[in-house]
Amino acid sequence: MNDVLVGQALTKRFGQTVALGGVDITVRAGEAVAIMGPSGSGKSTLLHCLAGIMKPDAGEVHLLGTRIDAMRERQRSALRRTRFGFVFQFGQLLPELPAEENVALPLMLGGVPRAEAVRQAREWFGPLGLRSMEARRPGELSGGQAQRVAIARALVSRPAVVFADEPTGALDQRTGQDTMRLLVEATRHNDASLIVVTHDPNVAGWCDRTVEVRDGQLLTGVGGVRA
Ligand code: ADP
Ligand code: MG
Repeated sequence: MNDVLVGQALTKRFGQTVALGGVDITVRAGEAVAIMGPSGSGKSTLLHCLAGIMKPDAGEVHLLGTRIDAMRERQRSALRRTRFGFVFQFGQLLPELPAEENVALPLMLGGVPRAEAVRQAREWFGPLGLRSMEARRPGELSGGQAQRVAIARALVSRPAVVFADEPTGALDQRTGQDTMRLLVEATRHNDASLIVVTHDPNVAGWCDRTVEVRDGQLLTGVGGVRA
């Protein structure tokens, strides 16, 4: 009923490599889920399939009851822009744009006039501890500040789901913890669900539950079984 994102029997191969071997996962409204597992286990592939970045070879993905994996790229692209937000490890901000325009970009791409988009973007700077950083270029921000700009950009279009792939991977432990706290609080405050890929248990600790991936399969029975 409150299922926001459902992946059913997802499989994905790259040549001989089975990156996903039939994964079922359900993410509920407002829930923060960590996806953990060793390098190469299929975490990013799972995230990319759920987010409509990649088409699974088989299986289905449903967002709020609508099947999205079979949509054409153009539709999936619009969906990613309007219903999903993304935070990656590093470097996803456009270096030539000031922070506020980086945040405003998803709105502008969706047709919101520049001045209005920037106005809405600026509202995120205070809550995320970025006051007076609006005009800085990404190269003039610390790693933690840049990730907070990325969090603002992920949330500015009020997505249903935020996807984060190793969002603290390039940060020191302390900054990583602060960043996770802000990411979890900000998504919760906006009633978005959050899916975080990480291999750091401290990062996963901020989430409501954790699912473990091994060799393209979800392990069940580990700290909060998938259901
Ligand atoms: P993780 O994010 O857990 O480190 P990935 O989902 O990136 O793992 O990768 C799962 C498996 O699929 C790995 O064996 C990886 O080498 C392989 N793989 C991922 N993406 C590609 C690709 N584009 N081409 C070939 N193999 C890939
Ligand atoms: Mg990965």
